[in-house]
Amino acid sequence: MIAQGGRGAKGMVRQSEPQRPGISIDDNSATIAHIKRLVSDFVEVRNWQDFHNPKDLAAAIAVEAAELQELLLWKSPAEVVAYLSKSEGLDEVRAELADILILCCSLANRLAIDISAALVRKLAENEAKYPVEWASGRADKYTALGATARDRCT
Ligand SMILES: [Mg+2]
Repeated sequence: MIAQGGRGAKGMVRQSEPQRPGISIDDNSATIAHIKRLVSDFVEVRNWQDFHNPKDLAAAIAVEAAELQELLLWKSPAEVVAYLSKSEGLDEVRAELADILILCCSLANRLAIDISAALVRKLAENEAKYPVEWASGRADKYTALGATARDRCT
């Protein structure tokens, strides 16, 4: 089941993909709703709804994240900088990041999750966990951060 509206019956295949990512789409012109629709159309026209179930999408997100990590695996910090300064390296990272985002959109579609609302809600939770006065310039987990800050105050 795809949770987003406007779909045909399960198993029906559209004659063509109604919208495809084009060169004119970028972060300034596309909405998340548009991107989610592109993903759902891509899945539906291939009749992949059964494959794009929550369990397998969660696993696929982790697999794609590992592919992103693999690009940088065993490289020194200097080698990472050199790799990312080349168009081939950046293209590989761009492709793996896109794989992750596509699957995230598909999971959001499947579970009727509003990505914008979820993101803003989580940012608010993170703001509470990582107050600027405690977290600025520090990479500590919030639990250690709070303890450290409390220790400083006493
Ligand atoms: Mg990939």
